[in-house]
Amino acid sequence: MQAAAAIESLRSAFSGRLYTTKEEKAPFLTDWRRKWLGQAIAVAQPDSARDVAHIVRWCFEHRVPMVPQGGNTGLSGGSIPDAGGDALVISLARLSKVRGIDLLNNTMTVEAGVLLQRAQEAAENAGRLFPLSLAAEGSCTIGGNLATNAGGVQVLRYGNARDLCLGLEVVTPTGDVWDGLRGLRKDNSRYALKDLYIGSEGTLGLITAAVLKLFPRPVNETAVLAAVPSPAAAVDFLRVVDSNFCSSLTAFELMSERCIALVEKHIYGSRRPLGDSSPWYVLFEISASRQSDHGREALESLLEAALGEGLITDATLSASVAQFNELWALREHVSQAQGAEGPCVKHDISLPISRIPGFLEVAAKAIQKQFPQIEMVTFGHLGDGNLHYNASLVTTGTRRPASEPADPLAALEEPLNRLVHDLVVEHEGSISAEHGLGVLRRDEAARYRSATELRLLKSIKRALDPHHLMNPGKVLP
Ligand SMILES: Cc1cc2nc3c(=O)[nH]c(=O)nc-3n(C[C@H](O)[C@H](O)[C@H](O)COP(=O)(O)OP(=O)(O)OC[C@H]3O[C@@H](n4cnc5c(N)ncnc54)[C@H](O)[C@@H]3O)c2cc1C
Repeated sequence: MQAAAAIESLRSAFSGRLYTTKEEKAPFLTDWRRKWLGQAIAVAQPDSARDVAHIVRWCFEHRVPMVPQGGNTGLSGGSIPDAGGDALVISLARLSKVRGIDLLNNTMTVEAGVLLQRAQEAAENAGRLFPLSLAAEGSCTIGGNLATNAGGVQVLRYGNARDLCLGLEVVTPTGDVWDGLRGLRKDNSRYALKDLYIGSEGTLGLITAAVLKLFPRPVNETAVLAAVPSPAAAVDFLRVVDSNFCSSLTAFELMSERCIALVEKHIYGSRRPLGDSSPWYVLFEISASRQSDHGREALESLLEAALGEGLITDATLSASVAQFNELWALREHVSQAQGAEGPCVKHDISLPISRIPGFLEVAAKAIQKQFPQIEMVTFGHLGDGNLHYNASLVTTGTRRPASEPADPLAALEEPLNRLVHDLVVEHEGSISAEHGLGVLRRDEAARYRSATELRLLKSIKRALDPHHLMNPGKVLP
């Protein structure tokens, strides 16, 4: 079919919006960080799951590749079409209804295009908590969160997006609608189809709605910033806090001194809450669903004991909501502060928590030896084993020579990734913890897979998407 005739037949296949001009399509063809730029025949914005099914059937019939897109905040290039120009971007942004809240079942059914922040607000208005929380929450969608199995800061207590979802509605690559919108916490009556779609980054089907778990709202939250001498001490301290506070421990984050220095330098109004500098810090949160002072007393004695044992060298507790927010702001601004310092290379890795100190020691030595011009800005969710192990150029204070390329890190990116990821795999970790593979980590991930695993993954893809139309070129090579 001629391109113009094809567009007209697609236009008449569904209600909703269809963007075909260069200007209309432009915002959908590049990502949040403008790292990738793609092309597409058009961008479709359906109004309902039924519209999505009509569009997908049309694509299946005309063998047009499809690229699902939510808030386009993904960090691995999964929502951007390639440069070929033959794909259709399907934006789920207009599927934005909260379909219902079941307070007795503690669940909420929302459409895929609902912004994460709106889902949190809907839960709050019903007196409940939807705990998924990340810095992009004002722009990212529930569909995108599930497609990437997003994590964030509260995974330690509530789990990642997969753990927060009980059921899904999915349009398959042939245009059928799978209604798996069940609100069941136990259901052993089929293969785990839901879990196949969660984290598949739009390569197996389009998520159109989900049943999400809700929780009681915490009424009493305390944040603690503690200076720790080393990552090993941080892990020991995590175990002490965890065994004393169990499920009240909602987050446990690690930051190096460099993180705090960058936030202090680049984020207006920020200050160091602890006097002397320390090589490492942990920030953790204790939350309870009842008002009680016992928790605070217990926390103070725990900190005193940890100081006595040398696990921590200093600490401060929030005594008000303003102080709680101020301590968290330090952690939340690390990425932005590193970006303000200059170009960086990001690694979103996870490791068994017990192996994190060993990994950090070996990796620091290897990087120092092979790339002395690089410094690592290390932070992340120690409580669930996920580190953001990001590289910047060492700040020298002297002007860089004019002959130096605009982004001197770019040339180092590949060998640096190889070094870091080889060490991650040696330490039994994963090269993608919460950001997905997209195109960014697709080939590297394939390099570390066994032939058996690759064969299993490819046979799932082939079985569900035989014509390879759903987000081609993402996740699997
Ligand atoms: C400032 C910032 C902070 C972030 N912090 C975190 C963090 O702490 N933790 C974390 O895990 N992630 C974080 N992220 C990345 C995170 O993955 C995304 O923010 C979010 O989960 C993606 O949602 P989205 O709606 O923007 O999806 P998009 O970016 O639009 O898409 C992401 C992937 O999902 C697919 N997809 C989207 N919608 C659907 C759908 N309905 N059905 C099928 N496939 C779909 C796309 O094809 C693509 O492969 C951050 C990103 C930014 C920019």
